[in-house]
Amino acid sequence: MRTLNEITVVGASLAGLRAVQTLRREGFDGEITLVGAETHLPYNRPPLSKSVLRGDDDILLPGAEELSDGWLRGRTAVRLNPAARTLTLDDGAEVGYDGLVIATGARPRRPGGGAHTLRTLEEALALREELARGHEHVVVIGGGFIGGEVASTARELGLKVTLIDAGRYPMHAGLGDAAARWLAGLHERSGVELVSGVRVRAVHEGRVHLDDGRSIPADLVVAGMGVLPNTEWLDGSGLEVGDGVLVDERLFARGSAEIVAAGDVARWPHSLYGGTLVRIEHWSNANEQGAAAARNLLAGPGAAQGFADVPGFATSVHGSRVQTAGLPHLGDRADVVTGAPEEDRFAVAFSRDGVLVGAVAVNSPKDLIKLKRGVAAGASPHTIYDAS
Ligand SMILES: Cc1cc2nc3c(=O)[nH]c(=O)nc-3n(C[C@H](O)[C@H](O)[C@H](O)COP(=O)(O)OP(=O)(O)OC[C@H]3O[C@@H](n4cnc5c(N)ncnc54)[C@H](O)[C@@H]3O)c2cc1C
Repeated sequence: MRTLNEITVVGASLAGLRAVQTLRREGFDGEITLVGAETHLPYNRPPLSKSVLRGDDDILLPGAEELSDGWLRGRTAVRLNPAARTLTLDDGAEVGYDGLVIATGARPRRPGGGAHTLRTLEEALALREELARGHEHVVVIGGGFIGGEVASTARELGLKVTLIDAGRYPMHAGLGDAAARWLAGLHERSGVELVSGVRVRAVHEGRVHLDDGRSIPADLVVAGMGVLPNTEWLDGSGLEVGDGVLVDERLFARGSAEIVAAGDVARWPHSLYGGTLVRIEHWSNANEQGAAAARNLLAGPGAAQGFADVPGFATSVHGSRVQTAGLPHLGDRADVVTGAPEEDRFAVAFSRDGVLVGAVAVNSPKDLIKLKRGVAAGASPHTIYDAS
């Protein structure tokens, strides 16, 4: 381990907390400063679109309550000066470092017009309150995992729901044809009105206006239209930014030996996919990458390890569990390898040049595990299913 005396972590959520915990676990006994724009103890975001909307408030991340010294709560980094190894906070204070972890995550695209978005605890509580008011008609913009989960919860509450998605089917890009078509069917069977293949132009005075000229009345609008990485504070720093902080395979900012990035904000070349640049917006990635970035920072670029975990996420919609592994969209072929969409239980293997690159499993967790191993090993889908 090289000698560092003062490490600053910016972003006090999942990746940032994991970085702090890992620094201490690896024996770093220097000063750690954690800068976080939010004032809460670090909490888990996945429940915000699930159990929190149904009344659950127990979402602290394990170990969050152990943060004490060196945590600058409710403070935002506004500028970075790598040459001086300092960052400036919103109140003008300067924080020095000899090692820096960037874990500033992402924020939702906001269409305005009173549409709710869902990233923070405050936003989830505000939406919960609105849902409890029993609005008659909820319009959800975007059928990704957040939009799908909100639609599912609103149906559980007995509300009328319209889900608008720009793709052919919701989540088409991430799940591929068979699973996305099945998901669209599931939404419809569960009473969600689907409006697909059209973009939202504006939200205005209780109506959602679509690109094709239609406009849909809404008592409550919720937008899950994707996120933007929080990198503006790095403008002018000289750090390379492009849909995230560009880092190398060991998570070091390009050209830097003392700055690493992790979580939703980091974009790195994934060695499993021939060095394709990826930015992954999933829990397990932020969890593992926060720890890996901290270990690599302590080790230094020469001894650091490449980060090549297989990405994956899970979502529950209308009582069905959908899980993914790897990057299905990189596949040039998709095969349903077990079960069938009509049975609401199946798995799809995505391969490129005969090598597994991703998988989607619907109500088939064991198949997901098997396929995920296959993705990590660069196996062919046939060897996995012929061998079992
Ligand atoms: C509603 C919801 C549901 C989700 N469900 C799932 C799911 O089911 N499965 C799954 O895999 N993933 C899910 N995710 C995604 C997952 O939560 C994220 O991938 C994860 O939170 C990323 O962690 P992070 O630490 O990289 O970033 P974030 O959680 O975005 O945290 C970044 C932190 O940095 C702070 N910050 C930003 N800029 C600054 C600055 N300049 N100075 C100081 N602080 C700053 C922010 O305030 C924030 O607290 C969900 C996300 C949301 C919002």
